[in-house]
Amino acid sequence: MQELTHYINGQHVKGTSGRFADVFNPATGEVQAKCPLASVEEMDAAVAAAQAAQPAWAATNPQRRARVMMEFVRLLNRDMDKLAEALSREHGKTFPDAKGDIQRGLEVVEYCIGAPQMLKGEFTDGAGPGIDIYSMRQPLGVTAGITPFNFPAMIPMWMFAPALACGNAFILKPSERDPSVPLMLAELMEEAGLPKGILQVVNGDKVAVDAILDHEVIQSIGFVGSTPIAQYIYGRGCSNGKRVQCFGGAKNHMIIMPDADMDQAADALVGAGYGAAGERCMAISVAVPVGDETADRLIEKLVPRIEKLKVGPYTAGNDVDYGPVVTAEAKARILGLVETGIAQGAKLVVDGRDFKLQGYEDGFFVGPHLFDHVTPDMDIYTQEIFGPVLSTVRAGSYEEALKLAMDHEYGNGTAIFTRDGDAARDFAARINIGMVGINVPIPVPLAYHTFGGWKKSGFGDLNQHGPDSFKFYTRTKTVTARWPSGIKEGGEFNFKPMD
Ligand code: NAD
Repeated sequence: MQELTHYINGQHVKGTSGRFADVFNPATGEVQAKCPLASVEEMDAAVAAAQAAQPAWAATNPQRRARVMMEFVRLLNRDMDKLAEALSREHGKTFPDAKGDIQRGLEVVEYCIGAPQMLKGEFTDGAGPGIDIYSMRQPLGVTAGITPFNFPAMIPMWMFAPALACGNAFILKPSERDPSVPLMLAELMEEAGLPKGILQVVNGDKVAVDAILDHEVIQSIGFVGSTPIAQYIYGRGCSNGKRVQCFGGAKNHMIIMPDADMDQAADALVGAGYGAAGERCMAISVAVPVGDETADRLIEKLVPRIEKLKVGPYTAGNDVDYGPVVTAEAKARILGLVETGIAQGAKLVVDGRDFKLQGYEDGFFVGPHLFDHVTPDMDIYTQEIFGPVLSTVRAGSYEEALKLAMDHEYGNGTAIFTRDGDAARDFAARINIGMVGINVPIPVPLAYHTFGGWKKSGFGDLNQHGPDSFKFYTRTKTVTARWPSGIKEGGEFNFKPMD
């Protein structure tokens, strides 16, 4: 059995707590590795190494730091297949989807190559006689991030790329379900020229997370995961005086207007609902056709597409549409919610409950499910299922559809499918959700824009990547300087306006 490590101060180190988590191959159900769960002392060792290394990294000019990012991009491309294989093996997502996970992170690293431009401060020449005012963006020091299982490459890179480009040290606590790719990324960053101790990976569970939350040296925390944990980390981190941004769960609605191209909408829904087995925070989990006739046409188009979906292991390459879910518990929870949906009166139009894959009977595969006639009081509507289950809620009008999405507690992503520009504009303007697609089912913004949900999907005031990330990972210092007359003529005792 492979025993995974932490990556502390440039070295793979074995866990010393005696506690481990099982890392599965979700396609076979086998335990393939043990992930060490850090103690407080192990976290302390990483923080000490980060604290010692960070000042020299911060003093390295931003262009040189950017060159490390540039080289890292080359290495990611060099090792793309190797990384994607490790990712699929632990997560279960298809091989092309694993490459997409790495690629979307890589694009954030590319954006961070622009750090010298992003870190330029502000300058006012001659704010008063002989007086200049300038603002600098300085790194925070030691920063940390806690990431979920579903994007083990992209989400760590969302965080550590801007943190490092800004001159911080970063401690990553990845998901204990798929920690191998984060460890590989840390190694690659050092191969790219990053000094030891600047990017470290400390594997663990709540013990490691709480050690981050309470460590007085750690200045900021980024979190992505489920909403209850996001809320916990935000509360405790903020009350400890840290800068915290937390992104949580989702229930993304797609509104289908009567004038939508129904084939296009159905194709989009199948990809966005079932891709990655529905384990994406930007997956569409609720279809909202406007009007019964639209709903009937949509269901008619959806059913054959869903029945044709190919579910299988990542080793089948391009021949599968989605793979297994991450654990047996995740599978049991999803199937439990399906039963609840039936019991509460929703109509199961496509039933994936009996799905079996020959040769992979112990894998965590879940067949695709489609519900119709779901109502807002049902558990399958209120809860994030995070599996290949799409719920259809029929709305009587556009206003009703809009209100439905607005009243849901989550506000990560949403989409509208229509040919009517006026409806699309109105929707984009009024909806209280962070990321909106117009005839685009998964509107994940590219690296140079920012990513973030509203309501219970996001806590904190700055988004991930894009310009916000350079704000999140720096502090502004503003200097007022007077040259050359100085104060040699004597002190001034009144607070004077600038002349
Ligand atoms: P999770 O909340 O179970 O775990 C996320 C991280 O928190 C992991 O590193 C885990 O070790 C840690 N953690 C778990 N329980 C903890 C506890 N009690 N105390 C402290 N730390 C704890 O989430 P997950 O299952 O890994 O990921 C799926 C969730 O993430 C879904 O809800 C999904 O919507 C969400 N997600 C959100 C976004 C977004 O940008 N909004 C992106 C991806 C995933």
